[in-house]
Amino acid sequence: MSAFLSDEPKMTEKTRTQPTLRPETLSAQGLGHIAEPYRDIVEPIHLATTYVRDRNGELVGGRLYARDANPAYDQPEALLARLENGWEALLLPSGMAAAQALLQLLKPGERLVVPRSMYWALRSWVRHYTAHLGITLVEYDNASLDSLKAALAGETTRLLWIETPANPTWDVTDIAAASALGHSVGARVVVDSTVATPVLSRPLELGADFVMHSATKYLNGHSDVIAGAVVAREDSEDWQAIRRHRNQGGAILGGFEAWLLLRGMRTLFPRVRTASRSAQAIAEWLDAHPQVIEVRYPGLPGDPNHAVAARQMEGGFGGMLSIRVQGGHAGARRFAGALQLFREATSLGSVESLVEHRAPVEGPGTLCPDDLLRLSIGIEAVEDLIADLAQALDSPHHPPEEYDES
Ligand code: PLP
Repeated sequence: MSAFLSDEPKMTEKTRTQPTLRPETLSAQGLGHIAEPYRDIVEPIHLATTYVRDRNGELVGGRLYARDANPAYDQPEALLARLENGWEALLLPSGMAAAQALLQLLKPGERLVVPRSMYWALRSWVRHYTAHLGITLVEYDNASLDSLKAALAGETTRLLWIETPANPTWDVTDIAAASALGHSVGARVVVDSTVATPVLSRPLELGADFVMHSATKYLNGHSDVIAGAVVAREDSEDWQAIRRHRNQGGAILGGFEAWLLLRGMRTLFPRVRTASRSAQAIAEWLDAHPQVIEVRYPGLPGDPNHAVAARQMEGGFGGMLSIRVQGGHAGARRFAGALQLFREATSLGSVESLVEHRAPVEGPGTLCPDDLLRLSIGIEAVEDLIADLAQALDSPHHPPEEYDES
């Protein structure tokens, strides 16, 4: 039987017993949980939808129904809450579902303040959702506190949304300063920390109220699970409303996906650190290349976001960067097509490196320049990745050499 009951805060049992261990250790050992009765070092996969009562009608296992109390969630939720230094975490079936669990706090007539640059599908959904429900939507420039002040305009605001670094411009928002501004007008502050991960940044320690993740990306890290997560700094009426939304609204993650997610989270630290180190080396190399017009990466000292990023990110600047190459739209297309190791595919944060020509994917209304390419750096040998970028930049017409595509 798992130690967790359905409505206990997940921080109590497994996490507070090991206060001195470092997050790398907790992550690698999945909080050190050993599953009874066989003492499995890896949690079994929980697929049951319901739990049997004893002869007295008691739920001896402490579970009623898997929609609201799937034991497969216990360990990944407890681990994520611990890594984010939060009160409790909830898994959801996608990053978008995690965002929606927060957006449903808004009532008609309330205000939502969002950054101009944010994950495009969420930006588009937020526009549709707020217009549909009569919620006031105001935008600010991600990296400008003056712009945020103007957007808040001293008006009571229900939610302030931050995405940092923001996909795909990698603009950085000062979480501590923005949270203080948000709180001054009564807002709950949400940080989409998908790209930073708790390895590099812990927004709840900087004053945010909630952190959300597309767990599809770095938390899982293997391009085989779509999942999301929300973490709260403390218990509150809003948190209970979010829990209710998950348990009764019915959007839940499957047991197998939760198991895969935990497996991915056990290597989160070495994956994120390797990707960040390689991204830094690649950004510096690209920055010096004559075919490259612009590199957007907060780890570059010349990047306008560098100072804030250096203050609030620890141990690296993440595995994501964007570049613009010579030749406009056609040049970008040619470059993406000439890469061999970098796969051309959407998504990010996995072990394999990806490239995406972003404007055509985002379509009308995109804020991306026509020639912007987004690179997600994986954990391959950085020398091989740089060699691939070099051959694509230096010989843009070069036909791809043979490489196993199967
Ligand atoms: N937030 C960010 C920053 C993302 O990049 C994405 C997806 O790319 C999402 C949220 C949405 O996550 P999902 O695809 O898991 O629904």
